[in-house]
Amino acid sequence: MNPSFSSYLVNDVFGDPGVYVEVRWSKRALLFDLGRNDGLGPTRLLRAADIFISHTHMDHFIGFDALLRIALARGKTLRFFGPPGLIDNVQGKLRGYTWNLVDGYPLTLEVMEFHRETTKQTCFHAHNGFQATSPTVSSRTRSSWDHPFILLEDPMFVVKAVALNHQIPSFAYALEERFHINVNAQKLRAAGLRIGAWLSDVKQYIRQGKPDNFRFTVALYDEHRREDRECVLGDIKERFLTISRGQKIAYVVDARYDETNESKIVSLAHEADMFYCESPYLDADAAKAYDRYHLTARQAGLMARKSHVRDLTVFHFSPRYTGRGEALEREAREAFQGS
Ligand SMILES: [Zn+2]
Ligand SMILES: [Zn+2]
Repeated sequence: MNPSFSSYLVNDVFGDPGVYVEVRWSKRALLFDLGRNDGLGPTRLLRAADIFISHTHMDHFIGFDALLRIALARGKTLRFFGPPGLIDNVQGKLRGYTWNLVDGYPLTLEVMEFHRETTKQTCFHAHNGFQATSPTVSSRTRSSWDHPFILLEDPMFVVKAVALNHQIPSFAYALEERFHINVNAQKLRAAGLRIGAWLSDVKQYIRQGKPDNFRFTVALYDEHRREDRECVLGDIKERFLTISRGQKIAYVVDARYDETNESKIVSLAHEADMFYCESPYLDADAAKAYDRYHLTARQAGLMARKSHVRDLTVFHFSPRYTGRGEALEREAREAFQGS
């Protein structure tokens, strides 16, 4: 399977937490948390248009400025998703600077903060110096934040969150591809069809829910000759594509290990292909971790095991273990594998 998402940590395991997810073949990316992110560089930062914030402790939000600066003069809309208080926090950041001479800038920031049963949304436009539009509040019927709820729906994927206890709400996220479309290149070639941009269109049609009898024209290029071929979606699907379960990535940071948090995490991360989970402490320091509302490496591993995830990446290590990162990784892996 050719995965649709490629994901990695923004920083070293001891650095600020964050995961960058590229949606392959789309020049689009999602970013989970906004800690230090200079390492991503301008090109990758600019691709991130949907940004999911767990909570606004400094190590999860200090990178807001870097992102804002790089996006400022671009015609872009950045969408921020996060827990209560996010709108104030964004506004506070914006108020930290002087905004004359930006009236020609086409940047818009859309900020959505999710409360237990409501969603509050506001916009900031660069052209008027980032004055907040008056917020709208909508209720999410039957989707409390105690169970995974949907924050973003895209034709290709959904992003869900659940609120964890970190003394304050800390959001854990899951990115789920709705289904995966795999192309059988060999069969295509045998039928005299080339791999090209037209396949992205086909995937788009399927994700838009176009019916099997949907007809479209494919422009095929052979040397310098162009040939238009009429295709039927169902026929292409049946002959050249395999549709299977989509990819899933879960992101969990800053939460205490207790029964409620554990059951929320396990249900959110269920069968993820990759589970990014914080593990600042060794289990020997579990009491300390609990006091600080954080997880241990063993707890991360146990939850990965209970969630039946395929793979686990632990990070957000406490500096107290500098030089002993391997011990944290080993502890998590052993709990995950049940050894
Ligand atoms: Zn925190
Ligand atoms: Zn943190």
